[in-house]
Amino acid sequence: MQLTGGLPFWLIKDGLLNNYPKLLENTETENVIIGGGISGALTACYLTDAGKPCVLVDGRTIGLGSTCASTALLQYELDTPLHILQKKVGEPTATRAYQLCGKSIDTLVRLMNDLNFKDFEKTGSLFFSTHHSEKDFMLKELTARKHAGFKVSLAEPDELKKQYGLNAQYAIISEEGCSVNAYALTHALLQHSIKKGLRVFDRTCIKDIQYKKTTTLKTLDNYTIKTKNIINATGYEVVNFIPKGFVDFYCTYAIASEQSSEEKQRWKDNILMWNTDDPYLYMRLTNDNRVIVGGRDERFSNAFSRQSLLDKKARQLQKDFEEALSGISFRKEFAWSGTFGKTKDSLPYIGAYKKTPNTYYALGFGGNGITFSVIAAEIIKDIICGKHNADANLFSFDR
Ligand SMILES: Cc1cc2nc3c(=O)[nH]c(=O)nc-3n(C[C@H](O)[C@H](O)[C@H](O)COP(=O)(O)OP(=O)(O)OC[C@H]3O[C@@H](n4cnc5c(N)ncnc54)[C@H](O)[C@@H]3O)c2cc1C
Repeated sequence: MQLTGGLPFWLIKDGLLNNYPKLLENTETENVIIGGGISGALTACYLTDAGKPCVLVDGRTIGLGSTCASTALLQYELDTPLHILQKKVGEPTATRAYQLCGKSIDTLVRLMNDLNFKDFEKTGSLFFSTHHSEKDFMLKELTARKHAGFKVSLAEPDELKKQYGLNAQYAIISEEGCSVNAYALTHALLQHSIKKGLRVFDRTCIKDIQYKKTTTLKTLDNYTIKTKNIINATGYEVVNFIPKGFVDFYCTYAIASEQSSEEKQRWKDNILMWNTDDPYLYMRLTNDNRVIVGGRDERFSNAFSRQSLLDKKARQLQKDFEEALSGISFRKEFAWSGTFGKTKDSLPYIGAYKKTPNTYYALGFGGNGITFSVIAAEIIKDIICGKHNADANLFSFDR
C-alpha cells in the first residue's frame, strides 16, 4: 500500500536519521515486532525496558510508513466527541478511553524527557465551532469532559479572537495536549532500545507466517525468524494479516507553512486547534516556527487519486486556515497526503486476534493514532510479561 504522497514535512526536515541493517540470515528470538513506525518503536521500548528479548523488522526504511507523514497532535480527545461516544459505546468505556488517552500524553512526555528527546511541546488543546447552532452541542461536550475529570473551560468569540486570533463562536479549551515529531521520536525510541538489546532490521518484509509448534516468520528474501510471540504493528497494512472489515480507509492531507521570521508567538500557548466539522480542520505549530494545517479527508479509493487531489486539497486547506485565523499570514511550503484508517467506534484494536495465535496487535487507528500507540505498548507489554491489564478488554477485537 502506498501510505503517503507529496513531501511529508518531517522527512524533509530530518532526512534518514539512522541506518539499520537488513536481515540476511535466519534468526530466532522470543518476540518479533513487525513494523518500525511509532507503534512498533513504542512497543519495542516497553518490551526491552521490561527485559524482553525482541527483534523488530520493517519492510520499508524505518519510519517511512504513516509515521513520517503524521502531523502528530497528541490529544486526549478522540475523533468522536465524548458525549456522543458515551451513547455509542457506553459511558464507562468512552470515559475510560478518553482518560487513557490523557494519561498516555503524560506518559509519553515523561518518556521523551527520559530519552532527552527535544522535538515536542507540551501544550493545550482548543476544540472550536464556527456555528452558532452548536452551542448546545458544545455545552454537552464540556459537561461530559468535566465529569470525566478533564480541566476544561468554554471560550466565546471575543476571547478567541483576542487571544488566539481565531474566528469562532465557541471553543472548549483543555490543558492536556502535546505536539511532537513522531518520525524523529520513532528513531529515538529505537536507538534507546537498541542499547538495551533490541535488534532492528529494516527493508525486511514479512511475506509469510507459519503457526506451528513454533511460530516462524519468512522474509521476502527467504530468511526465517523463529519466535514465541509476534507483535503486529503494521499500521494500516495490517489488512494483509487480518480481514479488512475492522478499518475504513480515508485520504488525509496536510500543509506546512514557511518558517515565520517574526519572533512573536503566532497564537497563545501554541495551543493545538481543531474544529467540530466533519472532516475536521486542525492546526498546530512546529518548534521551528511553522504552522501545520491538516484535514479535508475523503474516502480512500487508491493512492493515485489521493495524489491527484493534493494540489487542490492544499489550496483548500490554506483557505480554511485563512478563514479561521484571518490575521495570521500563511505561505505554504510543503504539502503531503496520507492514508488514514478509522474504526466504527473511534477506538483502536489492541491485543490478540483469534485466528492468528501468539500474535498481539498494536493498531492505533483514528486521529489519536499516537496516543493509542502508547496505550497499545503498555497493554502488550503487560500481556507478554503475564501481568493483568484492566483496560485490555476495552480495545479487544471481540469488544
Ligand atoms: C497526514 C496524517 C496526519 C496524522 N495526524 C495525526 C495526529 O495529528 N495525531 C495522531 O495521533 N495521529 C495522527 N495520524 C495517525 C498516525 O500518524 C498513525 O496512527 C501512526 O503514524 C501509525 O503508526 P504505526 O507505527 O502504527 O504505523 P506506520 O508508521 O505505518 O508503521 C507501520 C510499519 O509497518 C511496516 N510493515 C507493514 N507490513 C509489513 C510487513 N509485511 N513486513 C514488515 N513490515 C511491514 C510498514 O513498512 C510501516 O513502516 C496521522 C496520519 C497521517 C497520515
